[in-house]
Amino acid sequence: MTIPVENPATEELLGEIADAGEQGVNDAVAAARSAFNSRLWMGKNPSERQAILWRAADLIDAHREDLALLVTLETGKTLKDARGGDVSGAADAFRYFAGLSRNSNGQSVGVDGPFSVRADREPFGVVGAITPWNYPLCIAAWKLAPALACGNSVVLKPSELTPFSTLRLGQLLAEAGVPAGTVNIVNGYGDSTGDALARHNDVDKLTFTGSTRTGRRLMVASAESNLKPVSLELGGKSANIVFADADRKAAVRGALWGAFTNQGQICTAGSRLLVESSIHDEFLEWLLRRVRSLKIGDPRQDDVTIGSLVSKKQMERVLSYIHSGKEEGATLLCGGHREGGVGCFVQPTVFSNVKPEMKIAQEEIFGPVLSVLRFATEEEALWLANSTPYGLAAGVWTADATRAARMANKLRAGTVWINCYNEFDPAAPFGGVKLSGFGRDLGQAALDQYTTVKSTWTAQ
Ligand code: NAD
Repeated sequence: MTIPVENPATEELLGEIADAGEQGVNDAVAAARSAFNSRLWMGKNPSERQAILWRAADLIDAHREDLALLVTLETGKTLKDARGGDVSGAADAFRYFAGLSRNSNGQSVGVDGPFSVRADREPFGVVGAITPWNYPLCIAAWKLAPALACGNSVVLKPSELTPFSTLRLGQLLAEAGVPAGTVNIVNGYGDSTGDALARHNDVDKLTFTGSTRTGRRLMVASAESNLKPVSLELGGKSANIVFADADRKAAVRGALWGAFTNQGQICTAGSRLLVESSIHDEFLEWLLRRVRSLKIGDPRQDDVTIGSLVSKKQMERVLSYIHSGKEEGATLLCGGHREGGVGCFVQPTVFSNVKPEMKIAQEEIFGPVLSVLRFATEEEALWLANSTPYGLAAGVWTADATRAARMANKLRAGTVWINCYNEFDPAAPFGGVKLSGFGRDLGQAALDQYTTVKSTWTAQ
């Protein structure tokens, strides 16, 4: 079976991919197992593995424009976002984990009795990775680079909506010197190919980024197969909290890009803006002026700031949330409609007078829709921020360092940004709590995801 892949900005067919299905997954896992058992990758010196991962980063940089264009064509995001968020993010991840691949990976442990004990980190073996469409290249790199740095083989299934940039990344990894069979990209739908990978008894570990709904299904798939450990980076409904003493200009910029980066299709989107009552009206005026200046259109044009959503289905979903916001009585301040007749463009949309129980305040929209809520006290801000089932990220804008520290301490989120938003670095662990998942991509913490610990006791 083949799957058509469209450019969502033009609705033109970009190409077709095969749905690998169970047989394709079996073949890929067998190749990954065979490469792992032959120690083609793990058997290399750490410095050689480091050099190959570093070369991969150099190749990504060398192909920056082609890769960015591929990402733009398959996602509809602007070229600027594709260059920064996807291509640079991917290269940076490979460089960071190239370094970590030389980390010493064991320690000696003091125990009672005449023994010496070592606790060593070992690769799992075959890692299954399933990635979403919103940052296809970057998230693939966030899985591949640490898994490889730890010595694993990988079978990766990208989203069926955005397969091409990941396939190209696979070619570049081969060119960099990653041995055959060590990285395998399988295409296909979630229900067929993704499920087959999640249930495969010879996959030792599963890492996933995507929706909470799929995350739950992967836990079931693991429970019903070989109990492979699963790590999940899921959705969010993050609060971006602006206190009256904040640097107004910086906070407006943070609120704008917190909500509308990648057309709001980013798991950390600051999609709930909480503004202190005393500055609420004035702050919204400033913000709306900026929102109205955003330019929607052909994502390949340099001056365009808002591109297309990823698909018709996603556009319909976002428009239905906008409809529900109106129905539930929130005030539509700007946007609210599809833009143009071709492509999946939705206007940047801002609602005020949003109540915490409304759907647009509770559920992840994954589109350019900002819900603004007001608060009177720090306690109320905290309560509002923590009152969704998600816990991926939060932002706090204030000039009061003590308050910032108090908030950071009490916010239930995997990442808290103080006087900044949507900042990432491969050295900083990233992941969520509550329905936003568990396990951490990036940083030293990522090494825990891709290794298991073996204790070896030697009698003295
Ligand atoms: P999705 O869960 O529908 O799909 C993600 C991937 O899972 C795709 O490759 C898909 O084919 C696969 N999949 C779907 N059903 C499957 C199944 N039953 N078994 C195995 N695989 C299956 O999510 P999406 O629509 O691609 O992405 C949007 C969602 O991802 C949003 O909810 C967003 O918040 C989340 N997301 C989270 C992060 C994060 O780091 N926390 C990052 C990006 C996206």
